[in-house]
Amino acid sequence: MTVPTPLPVAASALADCALCGGDGVVMGARGLLAHAELCTCVPPCGRCRGTGQVTLEQDGHLLVGRCVCRRTPDRIALFNRSGVPGRFHRATMHSFSTGILAHGAHDKMPALMDVSTWLGSYDPATENQGLVLHGAVGRGKTHLLIGLVRRLIFEKGVPSRFMEFSRLLGLLKESYDAGRGSSELMDELARVPVLAIDELGKGRLTDWELSVIDEIISRRYNAMRCTLATTNYAPRDPSGAAPANLARSGGQRQTLGDRVGERVWSRLRQMCLFVEVSGRDFRAPRGS
Ligand SMILES: [Zn+2]
Ligand SMILES: [Zn+2]
Repeated sequence: MTVPTPLPVAASALADCALCGGDGVVMGARGLLAHAELCTCVPPCGRCRGTGQVTLEQDGHLLVGRCVCRRTPDRIALFNRSGVPGRFHRATMHSFSTGILAHGAHDKMPALMDVSTWLGSYDPATENQGLVLHGAVGRGKTHLLIGLVRRLIFEKGVPSRFMEFSRLLGLLKESYDAGRGSSELMDELARVPVLAIDELGKGRLTDWELSVIDEIISRRYNAMRCTLATTNYAPRDPSGAAPANLARSGGQRQTLGDRVGERVWSRLRQMCLFVEVSGRDFRAPRGS
């Protein structure tokens, strides 16, 4: 066995960079979407000389692999395809936790802990349970969901797609109107390893809209893919009793199960862990 020759050091970000904080990623917004770029502190790579490929000789064989310097740019590319809205480009799990401190909203801490535990156990190589973050409007569910999507992409390299439910319906309608059908977008949403749906169950929910939810959830359920969601509607209590934090719609108290129908609800219950995000409204002035 030959001992691999030591390789030149691969490019990495400056640990104390004021622009990226040392992770090599600078976040901003481009148009309606969040957009990440590689920080200017990352030098050209001495290991692969910018080709992204390294060749190693081992036991008389040449092994060709991707240089470690490509890890951050590859994850930046995943993030830039994830659909995170530009207005949330600063949303991270860390900023959620500093928001808790700034607003004195310590009752949100259990939700953050549950989400952190879930993230710690997420393994890209296996089937993973999903997550539904539920709670009243303004409790920071979308912020937390986007923070989670960022960690999945940048820490675990998981291709993830964020989609607000009403935007999804709008895109599908546009696609129908243009005579393209819905299959391309539906296929993408059914296949992506992690799909994060914001505001699940919101809107008028016509028969067509319900059929869209049913198709996405059924296809992901059958493919054992991980689905994340936020919703303003409380999950139905297992006993069938009305839960304490019921959302209102059209003057009627409804649960998520009432909104999405029995079949989707039953699958969500099998696929997902439900975490309540309660506490102070992040949008309300402090002290109110
Ligand atoms: Zn930097
Ligand atoms: Zn390199």
